[in-house]
Amino acid sequence: MADAEEPSLGLGPAPSGTGARGAAYQVLARKYRPSDFTGLIGQEALVRTLSNAFATGRIAHAFMLTGVRGVGKTTTARIIARALNCIGPDGKRSEPTIRPCGVCEPCIAIAESRHVDVQEMDAASRTGIDDVREIVEGVRYAPASARYKVYIIDEVHMLSKQAFNGLLKTLEEPPPHVKFIFATTEIRKVPVTVLSRCMRFDLRRIETGELIAHLESIAKQENVKIEAAALALIARAAEGSVRDGLSLLDQAIAHSEGGTITVETIRAMLGLADRGRVLDLFEKVMGGAIGDALAGLSELYDRGADPLAVMQDLLEIVHFLTRVKVAPNAEGFFDGSSGEAKRAAEMAAKLTVPSLTRAWSLLLKGLFEVRDAARPVAACEMALIRLAYAADLPPTDKLVRDLLEGEAKYAQRSNPPLEGGSNRAPSARLGEGSARSAANPAPQIVAANAPTLRTLEDLAALAQAMGAPVLKVHLENDVHLLSLEAGRLEFRPSARAPKTLAADLAQKLKDWTGTRWVVTLAREGGAPTLAEQKRADKAARHERVLQEPMVRAVLDRFPGAEIVAVRDIPTEDVAAPMPEDGEE
Ligand SMILES: [Zn+2]
Repeated sequence: MADAEEPSLGLGPAPSGTGARGAAYQVLARKYRPSDFTGLIGQEALVRTLSNAFATGRIAHAFMLTGVRGVGKTTTARIIARALNCIGPDGKRSEPTIRPCGVCEPCIAIAESRHVDVQEMDAASRTGIDDVREIVEGVRYAPASARYKVYIIDEVHMLSKQAFNGLLKTLEEPPPHVKFIFATTEIRKVPVTVLSRCMRFDLRRIETGELIAHLESIAKQENVKIEAAALALIARAAEGSVRDGLSLLDQAIAHSEGGTITVETIRAMLGLADRGRVLDLFEKVMGGAIGDALAGLSELYDRGADPLAVMQDLLEIVHFLTRVKVAPNAEGFFDGSSGEAKRAAEMAAKLTVPSLTRAWSLLLKGLFEVRDAARPVAACEMALIRLAYAADLPPTDKLVRDLLEGEAKYAQRSNPPLEGGSNRAPSARLGEGSARSAANPAPQIVAANAPTLRTLEDLAALAQAMGAPVLKVHLENDVHLLSLEAGRLEFRPSARAPKTLAADLAQKLKDWTGTRWVVTLAREGGAPTLAEQKRADKAARHERVLQEPMVRAVLDRFPGAEIVAVRDIPTEDVAAPMPEDGEE
């Protein structure tokens, strides 16, 4: 990601991020960036501690802001910089304040990232000793106009050891007119010697409820109509990141083309299946109704659900049901008040914890198979069939007990597909193994059989597979591809792309593939986005179908008839419900 941003010096006013984008559209995340602590949602603890420090005049020389990406670390850093340097509307304030006025010259200049005494540096792109030398030398001089010289260093954990050492001397004896604000997503990589000299704030993930309320108020201010359930889906996908939540809302507004934003729109955008239908599917599978279950799957698939997303949803349902069993008031997957939550509770009552645990193992195994399969929907069917047969068996612990006790009754079970002892041991083993992989499912597995990423679709599919729906949405909607080869991606971001997209992609691709990725932004050119291509294909297909003589005849014969959808009928797609011989 070093290469992702512009070729500016590491130091200096932060990049404005407008660049190639149209001035007309301002992304919501920027438009609604809070300018003081009151606008910062969900960070009351930080505000309280900081207020106390300001009130007693014991302001630290260095702050360390930690938290997952998108919780507002950089925003908070800028607010602190303003708080330190605000001179009030009348220009007479001589002390820092926890309530920066927002209208004085320092406040405005800092908000616009152009205050000469407030320097921002991204340590992700400036990792070496030379990069901090500029700071170390700069701190000796008094601020040009502000009360304090403020150095904001983002992703500080990426600094080299040498760079940290260079910085440390300054941190040990900081001049009184200098403040440091560090931000990091990986606090454990920051040396203790540095940490011990900072006042630390852990910015917490925004809770789904808070995020929903926040998004709702912004939608209202934007005059955007959006269903409550659609907001909930966005908030859940954002996983506590305000920035992701806002950028998904941005996308949703673009997708909705002016009308009310529905749950269906968001589901389609995120590649999610209808949760009520997935619950139906699970009920059928666990009831052993394989034919119905496969029909349900094919319906979900026809409606655009990604087989992988179906597997993920099934896993979430199993997790949710298991939690309901353990703690009846568990919240999560379903809206507490919805009919589905009630149905889920009834279903949980009927299922045992061992059978849920086994379902989890089988689905988890299925998830990886679906991810790696050439025809994911077929792999998904196989996983469901396996689960349906297994659901009909006694729970594993009972199997083992029966086996140990040498009871004969299991052999008498009238259940032909999985017979005899050959299946007992593997299922028990499967159960144990899955507990481990469940705890730590993702990156290593992919690194082991690194996927070939040739097209943008591959990248989007990988993002989906790795449980990063937000990134998937951006890859589909905001990337005008110039080139893609192993370890290199160049694209022009759309006007709605978040400023962090290139850096996020570089980071995630590195995590997922185990190799370094250079992500470069271009100012012009690039192919249409995947979403644009899809829309164009759909329109062209529609047009072609309209030209079919048969279709034209029908349309002529039935005035007012219209083509609602164009579907391919799969020819070799009928997977017969044949049980596999054994699990492996
Ligand atoms: Zn001010």
